[in-house]
Amino acid sequence: LVSRETQPEDTVVSIHGVRIGGPQLQVIAGPCSVETPEQMALSAAGVRAAGCRMMRGGAFKPRTSPYSFQGLGVEGLELLLAAARPAGLPVVTELMDVRMLDTFMEHDVDVIQIGARNMQNFDLLKEVGRINKPVVLKRGLANTVSEWLMAAEYIAAGGNHHIILCERGIRTFETAYRNTLDLTAVMVAKRESHLPVIVDPSHAGGKAWMVPQLARAAIAAGADGLLIEMHPSPCDAWCDADQALSPAELAELMDSLRLIAQAV
Ligand code: PEP
Ligand code: MN
Repeated sequence: LVSRETQPEDTVVSIHGVRIGGPQLQVIAGPCSVETPEQMALSAAGVRAAGCRMMRGGAFKPRTSPYSFQGLGVEGLELLLAAARPAGLPVVTELMDVRMLDTFMEHDVDVIQIGARNMQNFDLLKEVGRINKPVVLKRGLANTVSEWLMAAEYIAAGGNHHIILCERGIRTFETAYRNTLDLTAVMVAKRESHLPVIVDPSHAGGKAWMVPQLARAAIAAGADGLLIEMHPSPCDAWCDADQALSPAELAELMDSLRLIAQAV
């Protein structure tokens, strides 16, 4: 179902009028995790001021250590929506556990993110395949493009065709940065599938200084959009502080993207 052989033309996923996969580049920005009402209000203002049309924010966080901040849970979901709705920004947030799906539906989350660590959580994929909500499907840390597309197929097989693929860097031997951004995979995914492909340069590089150039490279490689971490005060972020852009850096990046793509 997700193959170009079955559908030659590009799929465009529309989220309250924000179209991902069409001629316009879309940038989803916001903090790694939802922290406080103030942090979320400043984040929403920064996302809007930069000209981005969607907001991200994690309420359920897949942390490597069980002693790290795990996210605010349902309270975080509510803080995210309370900040984003008045700003007119649809939200993207991660679903880790199938038992939270009803809560996500009741809160009318606009886009459900399936994180890299859950790319092959087949029961989770089947459940989001049964609903009628857009899904951002991140590529697993060590998964091939064909495994990634097969994970998308699980969602499509259930009837949900609103799928956005997201390349976020893979595990390699290199330790100088967090992950290796695989732009070749973006090209292959776009060639083999009709689904939109976005890139998350934040989790790929893992350092804020790398994000703007990786973002521009992704657009030059044909990505349909970006998922970027931004925090009103990056060094104070509770999660992924090293890779968060400030609101001013996000605005500057958006200006530079306008020069290389037909951006917002
Ligand atoms: C995230 O987007 O906050 C995240 C945890 O990403 P990934 O699943 O790509 O590590
Ligand atoms: Mn993060």
